[in-house]
Amino acid sequence: MNAIVGAIDQGICPLCGRPNHCVVAAGGMIGDPCWCWGVRAAPEALARIPAALRQKVCLCRECLTRRDWKDMADLPHGSVFEEQD
Ligand SMILES: [Zn+2]
Repeated sequence: MNAIVGAIDQGICPLCGRPNHCVVAAGGMIGDPCWCWGVRAAPEALARIPAALRQKVCLCRECLTRRDWKDMADLPHGSVFEEQD
């Protein structure tokens, strides 16, 4: 077990603040099959995870696969969300 994660909500995406549906947050163990295993993460998204949260918190599917981060480079977390697919 890892005590470092105390104050971190592992069920919340650190980029948008929405539920990430991580298997760990749902009560699973780290290493249990998670939806993210089959997803190709966008480097742009991974680069935006705060250093303190890297490899501790999952992104939601939308953020993990999003590549148009340039368009919202300076927005604070969770401020604006428009569906643009
Ligand atoms: Zn997200």
